[in-house]
Amino acid sequence: MRNRDQAICIRTADYSETSQVVSFLTRDAGVVRLIAKGTKRPKSKSGGAIDLLTEGDLVYTARSAEALGTLVEFTESASHAALRRDARRLNAALYAIELVGEILPVGDAQRASFDLLHNTLGRLGEADAPLQPVLAYFQWRLLQQVGLLGDMTACVVCGRPVTDTEAWFSSREGGLLCGGCEAGIIEKYRLDAAARAGLAALTAVQRGPARRARRIALPDSQAVAANRVLAYHVREQLGKPLRMARFAIG
Ligand SMILES: [Zn+2]
Repeated sequence: MRNRDQAICIRTADYSETSQVVSFLTRDAGVVRLIAKGTKRPKSKSGGAIDLLTEGDLVYTARSAEALGTLVEFTESASHAALRRDARRLNAALYAIELVGEILPVGDAQRASFDLLHNTLGRLGEADAPLQPVLAYFQWRLLQQVGLLGDMTACVVCGRPVTDTEAWFSSREGGLLCGGCEAGIIEKYRLDAAARAGLAALTAVQRGPARRARRIALPDSQAVAANRVLAYHVREQLGKPLRMARFAIG
């Protein structure tokens, strides 16, 4: 079946001298893996090998979500040149696509995830974009979309509101632990005041009007602390750290 969709290139691998295997996040079909024949030839229709982060209009055939499909045509609409010129912005963007590739189940089509990545890449390319807050919001929303983050105000064990400055996060339990319950859980991450404040700010953004989300105001120290907790959650869920985590978050 022939499909046409908006797509963002999230992973590439060489397949042969002239061909690539490319993973795209598409708007309608989620993550698709395609063989792109001849794209590495300089005179190919796509104008050369397809690069990570490139967005465009994709035509492809696929028998099923799991099977390797075939790229028919890819017409670039955004190359994110501004983002590629700044190593810090590029690292944040590469972390974002690595996270999408690892955490979104194949065949799970959520337009919200496509729109989130599309908006995040656009924002990271803007000169005034605060990198760590943008990345924190991205991680937060994506983890919610795949069902890995629930309510972050109450203790997941006893259900009481977590109001103390000192609290813990458990990846396996999927939420916060209060001081009365943390001793009973082995796998946990201690949240300092900055991490608590960062997570609280993200919760507040989520409860506010949607248009505020793109302009999230979060001090860098709190955003970094929140990013570290969320990256810890990702590492525990996947059983390995993401390759770009130390470059994007530190
Ligand atoms: Zn508790």
